[in-house]
Amino acid sequence: DPARFTRVDATTWRIEPFGAMRVPAIIYADEDLIRAMDDKVFEQVTNVAMLPGIVRASYAMPDAHWGYGFPIGGVAAFDPDRSGIVSAGGVGFDVSCGVRTMLTGLDVADILPVQKSLADSLYRQIPAGVGSTGAIVLDPVEMDAMLTGGACWATEHGWGDARDLERIEEQGRMAGARPECVSDRAKERQRLEMGTLGSGNHYLEVQAVAEIFDTGVAEAFGLRQDNVVVTIHCGSRGLGHQIGTEFLKEMVVAAEASGIALPDRELACAPIHSEIGQRYLGAMRAAINCALANREILGHYARRIFGHFFPDHDLRLLFDVSHNTCKVEPHVVDGKRRNLFVHRKGATRAFGPGHESLPQALRAVGQPVLIGGSMGTGSHILVGATTGEEKAFSSACHGAGRALSRHAALKQWSGRKVIDDLAAQGILIRSPSSRGVAEEAPGAYKDVDAVVMAAEHAGLARRVARLRPLICIKG
Ligand code: 5GP
Ligand code: MN
Ligand code: MN
Repeated sequence: DPARFTRVDATTWRIEPFGAMRVPAIIYADEDLIRAMDDKVFEQVTNVAMLPGIVRASYAMPDAHWGYGFPIGGVAAFDPDRSGIVSAGGVGFDVSCGVRTMLTGLDVADILPVQKSLADSLYRQIPAGVGSTGAIVLDPVEMDAMLTGGACWATEHGWGDARDLERIEEQGRMAGARPECVSDRAKERQRLEMGTLGSGNHYLEVQAVAEIFDTGVAEAFGLRQDNVVVTIHCGSRGLGHQIGTEFLKEMVVAAEASGIALPDRELACAPIHSEIGQRYLGAMRAAINCALANREILGHYARRIFGHFFPDHDLRLLFDVSHNTCKVEPHVVDGKRRNLFVHRKGATRAFGPGHESLPQALRAVGQPVLIGGSMGTGSHILVGATTGEEKAFSSACHGAGRALSRHAALKQWSGRKVIDDLAAQGILIRSPSSRGVAEEAPGAYKDVDAVVMAAEHAGLARRVARLRPLICIKG
């Protein structure tokens, strides 16, 4: 109902509490984005505002689109001391899906002569696609070690570089993981999937810095015009998906048993202090470690392949950050500092300058915020802003966001044609699935430049650099 909307400023839209809403809903977007946003987002962001213990507001980022229960691009924080809940649907199925960007120290001119053979090597050596398996097989003991050790576990086994760790969220290892809360089925699904990209929207991309918006921050990030970077987008594979599926089912029952009235079954949740809530948190944190380990291993493979082509260059991690998580973080609400359970689903954590969790080299400037666009249009690197804390618990968009469903995209494009058109623009796509490429056609996504501009205008994060794709290995 558009009558319920108030426009606070050019990029802030507010829905005051009505019905069972406990807090307002706030959507950050410009006018074009809000007009194009699917109605389900408004319904979902107001539904989330009805959940117990929610504080301040239920937020949607400028790339928001319809999701399972919570919108993708949703942010909501819950207070454990005010009957707050944790929700599997508020985290998403691909637990800790996220992005890492690595600096290569190379320029576009270094890549162009070998672009095709580099694309072929990456495609041959990075397992991608539905049900893809890798060279790493985990026995039950190693599985549990991985689930508690995250990227630290990977580097200890030689699949990575310990220097990366300080540039990974949680220093590469999420505390509080409980492998015993992860089902055998979830572990079985992950047994052969470490170091694999997965399918759909997951990718490994070689990108060039096409434009710099903030020279000072870009310098601190190690980014210059025409530099080449490698970006990896993937998550916790079969393990996270299985955990999400199982806990969603359990939480529907648990919510009912705890007397929580759900505006939508898909919002299944449990009190933070409940047995199932705690069990979910233990399993979800294990899945976070799985995703952190997975991206570290994939980064290691990228290093190895780049090493064949450019023996004098090493890939250095700029940053690794997740966009599907529930994290306990201190935030000031009503003048009081409280530990909140911040759900970010399709939303990137975006800490501003000075945040204690940032490594020394980045602390003064703020956290790199890594935003995918599409395989054809480009991507962005932003930096967390001090204003973001008050705006959305230090969160920002995570991508362009879908404009068309996969189904609608399939009707409109053929994978072959998308690949040929992009090749003509100097962008090499390699994918096992031509159908997947059609579903992921650049036209199926919103305008990423408009999305990040809105995020900047809203004070969520500031633009640092725009990247254009050279090679995309697509799951
Ligand atoms: P999600 O995490 O929701 O699956 O995807 C995050 C974002 O990644 C999407 O909103 C989209 O903008 C972006 N994205 C999807 N596919 C690609 C790709 O192949 N390359 C790049 N650079 N971005 C992509
Ligand atoms: Mn994912
Ligand atoms: Mn993702």
